[in-house]
Amino acid sequence: MNYTINQIAKITNAKIIGDKELLIKNIAFDSRTIYSTKNTAFIAINTHKNSGEKFIESAIDKGINIIISENHYSQFEDITWIIVENSVMFLQKLAKFHFENSHIKSVGITGSNGKTILKEWLYQCLWNEFPTVKSPKSYNSQIGLPLSLLQINDSHKLGIFEVGISEPFEMEKQENIFHPQIGLLTHIGTAHLANFKSEEELIDEKIKLFKNSEVIIYNGNNPLVDKKIRELYSSKKLISYGFKDHNQVFYKNSISKNEDIVVQYLDEEISFPVHQRDEATLSNALALITVLKELGVETQKIIEKINALKAVEMRLEAIEGIKDNIIINDSFNLDLDSLKTALQFLNEYNKPKKSLVLTDIIGVNANSKELYEEVSDLVNEQRFDYVFLIGVEIIQFSALFKSKTFTFIDTKELIESKNLNEIKNQIILLKGARKFEIEKLKDILELRKHDTVLEINLNAILHNINYHKSLLRSSTKMMAMVKANAYGLGSYEISEFLQHHHIDYLGVAFVDEGVELRKKGITVPIIVMNPEQHSYEAVIEYNLEPEIYSFRVLELFYEALQKSGYDKKYPVHIKLETGMHRLGFKDHELNQLSNVLANKNLKVQSIFSHLSSSDIPDEREFTLNQLKTFEKNSAYLIEKLGYTPIRHILNSSGITNYTDHQQDMVRIGIGMLGESSDSEIQKQLRSVVSFKTVISQISVVENGESVGYSRRFKAEKPTKIATIPVGYADGIPRLIGNQIGNVGISKTLAPIVGSVCMDMMMINVDHIPNVKEGDTVTIFNAKPSLKEFASYCKTITYEVLTSISPRVKRIYIKD
Ligand SMILES: *Cc1c(COP(=O)(O)O)cnc(C)c1O
Repeated sequence: MNYTINQIAKITNAKIIGDKELLIKNIAFDSRTIYSTKNTAFIAINTHKNSGEKFIESAIDKGINIIISENHYSQFEDITWIIVENSVMFLQKLAKFHFENSHIKSVGITGSNGKTILKEWLYQCLWNEFPTVKSPKSYNSQIGLPLSLLQINDSHKLGIFEVGISEPFEMEKQENIFHPQIGLLTHIGTAHLANFKSEEELIDEKIKLFKNSEVIIYNGNNPLVDKKIRELYSSKKLISYGFKDHNQVFYKNSISKNEDIVVQYLDEEISFPVHQRDEATLSNALALITVLKELGVETQKIIEKINALKAVEMRLEAIEGIKDNIIINDSFNLDLDSLKTALQFLNEYNKPKKSLVLTDIIGVNANSKELYEEVSDLVNEQRFDYVFLIGVEIIQFSALFKSKTFTFIDTKELIESKNLNEIKNQIILLKGARKFEIEKLKDILELRKHDTVLEINLNAILHNINYHKSLLRSSTKMMAMVKANAYGLGSYEISEFLQHHHIDYLGVAFVDEGVELRKKGITVPIIVMNPEQHSYEAVIEYNLEPEIYSFRVLELFYEALQKSGYDKKYPVHIKLETGMHRLGFKDHELNQLSNVLANKNLKVQSIFSHLSSSDIPDEREFTLNQLKTFEKNSAYLIEKLGYTPIRHILNSSGITNYTDHQQDMVRIGIGMLGESSDSEIQKQLRSVVSFKTVISQISVVENGESVGYSRRFKAEKPTKIATIPVGYADGIPRLIGNQIGNVGISKTLAPIVGSVCMDMMMINVDHIPNVKEGDTVTIFNAKPSLKEFASYCKTITYEVLTSISPRVKRIYIKD
């Protein structure tokens, strides 16, 4: 977009305070990820859950001088204000105008699953055919869609946008803003069904997006979808795709055979090799082909493009580097949009120093001088300490870059220069077009080189938190339990992410866990569940909040507090014993407790207890009794105190099973990691942790030969056996050897044979065709799931996670 403030005010009926002629090219809505302030306005979005106005100050601190909001705050100087009646409606109005006055061809994607993947795939196939704009990440909501549309500019010829809904009547509003020429409906599933009366109602709502479309491409496997679209849109061009052969686009041969796949596309047959054969991927591939065909891409080109998709990893990863660096690796494609996304991602970390490795931008049909001017403007605003430019084109423009800049013809030259070896304690962004293979730099910069990794999906954590929040009142606070290194996943990384997403409280078990978080810059209130007696000085020094569970702890802590010279009321948390019989004050102690507290300079910040069996349906009566005791005893204490601290008792399964007892706060743990004991809830959660490795060696063990220590597996026929580099020192219990446990290889289970060794184990892969050395092996994620893996180990998911050894590298991804 590119409007003056005056134009925007005319389009949206807004009021202006300040300079009418300023130009706006971008609108930022998240003050934390502002990566550029040039021609950028910050919009304070008010929704019924949250007000963006509290972030106006931090946007202004970052250098923004145009604010769009419902209220005017006159204390800020030299700021131009666009005052709007309703921030969300403002965005929608502006986006509608902008879209309707653009001249792009548009594709609108809706459906329950696959929207983001299809959008990214289409973009990868099309961006060097036509100048293309797309929704960033999965921006598809009432707010995300308008923000996406506002990215359209005069040079774009094609726009690919996701459209999502979660409630009835939303699609009408979305369609009013955005009416795609080509409509694409992916699979309809049960996600979001919660707010709809029936599947039929959901379908009716989704297909409203196509009211003004010329062409509708849809997954026709679901008979109800097929019927509805044909009835409602009989006058439009309709193309259905799917596995069933009543569709116009389908697979002609069996997808399970290991041969080239043949797609029947209307009257044409298109065949190509595929490597990933899961249903979702293959179904998305049909949709992809159909849209590309509809946009006039030739068959031969489509095949080439599909082949090029294979290596795609659609995400940014942050990896621990050598010399305390953090490496952000984004080496799968490079254009301006993805550069902006990566810069945003970078801004979520607060390392004081940062460096950038950037290559030529390839395949963009633009004047290269203008292109690199824009690139250097963006980069200069970030104030990188070092910039490393790779490629014959970009290095001609090195003078545009204001940081200390080094130039290289190719990646090899940079590696040989050893320049990167000098970098310490920085965040390093690797951003390159694929042909430069800058992932080789990642290999050099990475800390522990290990094929075995524990991958943690931060977006999935956010999804799971939001799912639990959706069950609660919007005023209920949430504490995230990050004790025991955040259940083994990495307490700093998880806490930093949760802090960024405004978690109210963090909970740790011991003082040193809290101290570590404070030292690394976590400022959210932290409660320490089990403050040991020698550690009270550290509690006070690092502003941690202790759990007080007995008179002894109360007195000892108070003594330490007085010694420290602290003279304000110190926040503490009172634990009540209600049936767990672990820690806490009992009924008969409450009177004395209130008397003791009355004479002390302490502030009871919260009163809480813990449920012993909230995940056990048979213990419902017991649990209700615990809840009742808590309600009674906390009310008693509150009356005695004369003020009302926060009350909390529910853990993850408490949130889902006893929602009515949510009190003022809940404490989530395993639930944010995507685990529930309830199978219905489990379906709504996303899996967070993926433990994986690769095959070191494959050998055929002949009849009568044995495998491993003590010869506990003997082959009865020639058997293909693979060795993988994880063992009991990594946290795989020895008891799951001897065909008790399984691991997954391309979605097939393979039993562990023989004894688990310290650093390795062997698996039977005889039944898996085409398996080869170097292939990925899933210890747990989808198949087997964490739960299944825990059942092999005869334990619970909590113990599996906390047992994974620190030597296993943790990688954090955002998809
Ligand atoms: C660990 C813990 C939780 C979280 O339990 P989940 O079952 O993982 O949700 C909540 N409260 C307390 C006191 C805990 O120690």
